[in-house]
Amino acid sequence: MEAIQDEAVAFTSALIRIPSINPPGAHYEDCARFIGETLAALDFAIEYHPAEGRPEHTRAHPRLNVIGTRHGRVARPLVHLNGHFDVVPAGDGWTVDPFGGEIRDGRIWGRGACDMKAGIAAAIFAVEAIRRAGVQLHGSVEISGTVDEESGGFAGVAWLAQQERISADRTDFAIIPEPLGVDRICIGHRGVYWFEVQMRGRIAHGSMPFLGVSAIDHLGLVLDRMRDVLKPALAGRTTDVPVVPTAARHATLNVNAIAGGQPIDGIQTPCVADRSRAIFDRRFLLEEGFDRTRAEIVDLLDGIVKDVPEFSYDLRDLMVVHPTRTPDGSPVIGALERALHRVLGRSVLVASPGTYDQKHFARIAGVPHCVAYGPGILDLAHQPDEYCDIADLMNATRVMALAILDLTRTVC
Ligand SMILES: [Zn+2]
Repeated sequence: MEAIQDEAVAFTSALIRIPSINPPGAHYEDCARFIGETLAALDFAIEYHPAEGRPEHTRAHPRLNVIGTRHGRVARPLVHLNGHFDVVPAGDGWTVDPFGGEIRDGRIWGRGACDMKAGIAAAIFAVEAIRRAGVQLHGSVEISGTVDEESGGFAGVAWLAQQERISADRTDFAIIPEPLGVDRICIGHRGVYWFEVQMRGRIAHGSMPFLGVSAIDHLGLVLDRMRDVLKPALAGRTTDVPVVPTAARHATLNVNAIAGGQPIDGIQTPCVADRSRAIFDRRFLLEEGFDRTRAEIVDLLDGIVKDVPEFSYDLRDLMVVHPTRTPDGSPVIGALERALHRVLGRSVLVASPGTYDQKHFARIAGVPHCVAYGPGILDLAHQPDEYCDIADLMNATRVMALAILDLTRTVC
C-alpha cells in the first residue's frame, strides 16, 4: 500500500482535473477513457458501454460507461466495485481551483475529491495492490466507472443492470465506494416519492375575489394541513435502519417548488388565480412502504375535498425510489467489518438519508449483497472546498483489498 500511494493520489488528482459535471454530463467520454486506459495498463480486460437508446445519451453529451475485469483462478464469486464519475457543479465559495486536483496538506482537493473520484481510486488500487503483493485472486473482480448517479443513474448502473451486464447471474457482491466515512459501512437508504399536486380554481375579477375560487388559497390549505397534521405524524415515525444523521431516521417531507396565478415578473392584471401547483419530496421509511406513503397523501387531499366543496386537485407521481437494505448477515457486510477491524480497529453500520446506485443493484440487477463503503467525509460531498484525506484514501484502499480477498473466496 505504501508503494502504491503516489499512484493512487496521482490518479485521483488527474480524474478531478477532468470536469465531468452533471448536469449536463460534460467530459464523460474523457473520464471513461481515462479510467479505462488506467485499468488496461494494469492488465484489466476493458469494455465500454455507451447507453444506447437512452434519451440523455446524445452526440453532444454521450453517456459512456466503462468496466474492467480481472479474472481470478475461477470466474465466481465475482465482486463488482462501482463508482460514478459524474460530479455536481462546483458552485460558489471555493478557495482552491475546483478542477485543479491540487495536492496539499495531506489532502487531494477539488470537486469530486470525495464524491467519489477517490472512491474509484480506492477500488482500482485495492485490486492492484493485491496483484503487486503477489497474491492471485481466487474469484474475480470487476470495476466499473459509470455516469449520471447524481441525476438518478438511469444511463449508468440502471442501464448496465437492464442490459444484464450487472446481474445476479454473474455478480455475487457489490461495493460502491461512496464517501460515507472511512469507518462506516452503508447498508442502504430511505425511499423517495416526488409528486406534484395541481389545484384548479375559477378565474374572476380581482376586485371581487368572492366571485371566483382561488387556487392559491387552496394550495395554502394543502400546505397548512401538511404542516399541522402530516409533518408531526412523520416526525413521530422512526426507522430501525441506522440512517445518519439521526434526524433523518424519521420520515420527512420537503416542498421543492410552488407556482400559481400569474407569472410573478409579468405585468399583473386583477385576476383570481385559477391554477396552482406544488412539487413535494417525501422521504419514506422501509417500514412505511410506498403504498401507505402515497395513500396518506391521497387521504390528506381527499380530506380537504370533504371540508371544502370547491377544492379539486390532480396528483401526479414524478419519481418513486423504493428503500433498500442489505440483508442482515450479508457476507459483504461481514467482510468489510473484519477488514475495518484489522485496519482501523472499529466499524459502524449506517444508512444514507438520500439514495445512491445501490437501488439499481438491488432492484434491477437483483444483487442484494451490495453496500456503500469508501473514503471521504459525507458532509463534504457537494460542498465548496471538497477534499479527501490521503490517509482516508489509503485506509479505504487497505480495507477494500482485504474485503476483496475475503469475498472472492466466499461462496454465497
Ligand atoms: Zn456520489
